[in-house]
Amino acid sequence: MMFDLIVLGGGPAGYLASERAGHAGLSVCCIEERSVGGVCLNEGCIPTKTLLYSAKIFDGAAHGEKYGVTADGLSIDHAKVIARKDKVVKTLVSGVKSALKANGVTLVDGRGVITGRSADGYTVEANGEVYTGKRLLIATGSSPAVPPIPGLKDGIASGFVCTNREILQLTEKPGHLVVIGGGVIGVELASYFTSIGTKVTVVEMLDHIAGENDADLVGILRKGFEKRGVTFLLSAKVTEVKAGAVCYEKDGQANEIACDKVLLSIGRRANTKDIGLENIHVLTERGAIVTDARMKTNQPEVYAAGDVNGKSMLAHTAYREAEVAVNTMLGKRDVMRYDAVPGVLYTNPELAAVGETEASAKKKGLDVSIVKLPMRFSGRYLAENEGGDGIMKLVVENGTRKVLGAQALSNYASEFIVTVGTFIELGLTADEVKEIVFPHPTVGEIIREAVFQA
Ligand SMILES: Cc1cc2nc3c(=O)[nH]c(=O)nc-3n(C[C@H](O)[C@H](O)[C@H](O)COP(=O)(O)OP(=O)(O)OC[C@H]3O[C@@H](n4cnc5c(N)ncnc54)[C@H](O)[C@@H]3O)c2cc1C
Repeated sequence: MMFDLIVLGGGPAGYLASERAGHAGLSVCCIEERSVGGVCLNEGCIPTKTLLYSAKIFDGAAHGEKYGVTADGLSIDHAKVIARKDKVVKTLVSGVKSALKANGVTLVDGRGVITGRSADGYTVEANGEVYTGKRLLIATGSSPAVPPIPGLKDGIASGFVCTNREILQLTEKPGHLVVIGGGVIGVELASYFTSIGTKVTVVEMLDHIAGENDADLVGILRKGFEKRGVTFLLSAKVTEVKAGAVCYEKDGQANEIACDKVLLSIGRRANTKDIGLENIHVLTERGAIVTDARMKTNQPEVYAAGDVNGKSMLAHTAYREAEVAVNTMLGKRDVMRYDAVPGVLYTNPELAAVGETEASAKKKGLDVSIVKLPMRFSGRYLAENEGGDGIMKLVVENGTRKVLGAQALSNYASEFIVTVGTFIELGLTADEVKEIVFPHPTVGEIIREAVFQA
């Protein structure tokens, strides 16, 4: 079967590229081995946010006294939360299937392997059939990294150790959960499980959680977690996983924590193995496909978008990269830019960031001013966050006065951070931004105040 484009993988990068290319009139075949929607819809972004929303309602009710709200007999039913998550996922997956159909995309349910190149294009085999595409988009995503820690593989096999996939299927809440890795995924799931009454211990090799996020905001977030009962073992290295326990080393001492489940969340690896890249000599670096700013690989008419290129493992990056790839195929000039890609921790409160942080700006030798404000400067924040200690930071370049970045620890931070992303994309200066009218009262008004102070 011959197509203008074969898309390998039906996650955010693959399904959006298929839809856009189909809409533009290309004949498209999208090959997906598990479920369209990929990690994001089935076992990542959407499931975690569904769980976190239930936790937010529960926490709001449980701590409502300060707002004049009391609730008796309050409980949260984890099995029902998981069932609702499944319903949300099912709805979204069927929506993606309909959109693919509406755009004339042929969806193949199976694992695709690139077998070579012929005069007609690239060949991919799936379910014993050969598909030929004039162009190829590789969008095979990523999988959890599994380090060579003794006992870890056996723990996964026995079900004692979960990755994001299994933990989102658990219908019984664990009594004590040990989270290996305090990055975004680990922290979000720690937030949910502590809300539903699971004892949570996070073991992190670095001396901080939440990756490269701003240290001031992360410090406040961590203290909030600790108040809720989460234990963080920082600068601690897991050395072994036994049945019913995790062994770690901290300050030169060997320790062991008994627990009834483990979540492994130390990072993700691009899915580049066993997909036939070697058959067409696609270049990889540290396991990820090398792409340029138009998502082209080193081979003609072969593109890669999403987690598989390892540039920024986020669904919204995958979407945009998919669009850039399709536009490039169609001969439209489009370029991927990464300097205004927001990142969010959907904890309660949310931590959202875009562009440079104080630390990254200094590391790059940029001459910047930092404005740091308590979120309480926003009337709406104060109204909705009794005793709230959130802050926001704005990074402005001295001289040019351009806005280079912002971080906020606040409710709705995920929704308003894109405002600053827009300033960065458009290269706006603090003085230009001052003229923009923000709705009042909103939490996002804090941006206007920060810009004024800059
Ligand atoms: C727990 C968790 C929470 C997350 N939360 C967020 C969030 O809130 N916001 C955010 O932006 N990002 C989040 N992410 C990251 C986000 O899920 C990924 O960045 C996104 O899914 C990447 O999209 P993708 O299309 O590149 O890859 P994927 O979503 O991984 O999709 C790739 C698809 O390719 C298929 N595939 C692989 N190999 C083959 C093959 N040979 N043949 C056929 N099919 C194949 C796979 O089955 C998969 O469906 C989260 C991730 C996790 C794990």
